[in-house]
Amino acid sequence: MSDCLIVGGGVIGLLTARELRLAGASVTIVERGALGGESSWAGGGIVSPLYPWRYSDAVNVLAEKSKQLYPELCRQLQQESGVDCELIRSGMLIVHDDEQDQAQHWAGRYRVELEHVQQPGRLAAIEPRLNPAFQRGLWMPQVVQLRNPKIVQALKGGCDALGIEHMEHSAVNRLLTENGRVTGVQLDSGQLRADKVIIASGAWSARLLQETDVPQKVEVQPVKGQMIMLKTPPGFVGTIVMSQGHYIIPRQDGHVLCGSTLEFTGFEKSTPGETREQLMQYASELIPALAQYPVVRHWAGLRPGTRQGIPYICEYDGIEGLYLHAGHYRNGIVLGAASAKLMAQLVTGEQPWCDLAPYTLNAPH
Ligand SMILES: Cc1cc2nc3c(=O)[nH]c(=O)nc-3n(C[C@H](O)[C@H](O)[C@H](O)COP(=O)(O)OP(=O)(O)OC[C@H]3O[C@@H](n4cnc5c(N)ncnc54)[C@H](O)[C@@H]3O)c2cc1C
Repeated sequence: MSDCLIVGGGVIGLLTARELRLAGASVTIVERGALGGESSWAGGGIVSPLYPWRYSDAVNVLAEKSKQLYPELCRQLQQESGVDCELIRSGMLIVHDDEQDQAQHWAGRYRVELEHVQQPGRLAAIEPRLNPAFQRGLWMPQVVQLRNPKIVQALKGGCDALGIEHMEHSAVNRLLTENGRVTGVQLDSGQLRADKVIIASGAWSARLLQETDVPQKVEVQPVKGQMIMLKTPPGFVGTIVMSQGHYIIPRQDGHVLCGSTLEFTGFEKSTPGETREQLMQYASELIPALAQYPVVRHWAGLRPGTRQGIPYICEYDGIEGLYLHAGHYRNGIVLGAASAKLMAQLVTGEQPWCDLAPYTLNAPH
């Protein structure tokens, strides 16, 4: 029996397990599939919200804290697991400046470097292969990215190094409770007991909670995102480029991700050919020379969607010992490191590093 049991082994569950273990708790992760095999594997790994000024402080406070934490976290994970998360600074160029005022206000408030680019020559200097039709943009040179399958692998190695138990291919069917307290979870293979259970089940997080004796309103729904990957020579594109919500992300080995869609189609992950064409078209509108490179992979993931992108980092009212850590929507990587620290502080009763009020069950998410 562990002190804490985490339902779901995506980045949120893995990061939470790590923080709890470092705080001295014994931890078991129960994962229905393979660790990190869902949204956390499928994402782009940009360590910044796409348009951060569109989000509330509740999101930005977590994002800014995570940005500070990732360099050291990735260093530690590499030591523990031997896996390089490929945390690289590629900057992010948004090739429109319609939201310039809001962007500059946000950049001043959070002390983020942001340049309003007004000369096409300057745009070309930032990204030489950019479509010359673009005239203006917003440039954030400090934005970093990491590679999703790598951070998942590194976190898994880190769990092993820290002695965190994990059970893959084990779905939790039901939460076990007695006299208003959580006592464990029910699996196909039997029961697992724990005093504290944390639901970190991504897009599926509301399901188990709705079946408890105390159903509460948890607004997390699946939002499908499709992505394609091209193979170019290394360094072919140097920076993350974005327009109207679509982006390209260059990896250091020359792979280029192009994404993504936002689809409210439930728990399905189909990848139709016409979407691949559409994503290819978006990519070549940004960088015309990408049109000559092959699509080597096309996939979909289910983001844990919340209306405002504000995650739940809270106790579950009415069942003692039960916690919810979910709903990071489009920003699970960028919010994850800071969010996991907060969750662990809540569970262990330590002083939280920021105000928990925006992340409680009844706050707007
Ligand atoms: C196309 C795309 C692009 C993205 N780009 C970015 C980006 O650039 N930057 C960024 O920060 N974020 C990005 N995201 C969002 C980010 O990937 C998610 O917010 C994050 O992965 C959520 O992590 P999670 O652990 O909550 O969910 P998941 O990774 O989905 O993990 C939840 C886990 O719970 C398990 N589970 C569910 N039910 C049960 C059960 N009953 N029993 C046991 N296990 C269960 C699931 O199998 C799953 O593995 C992107 C997402 C997508 C899809």
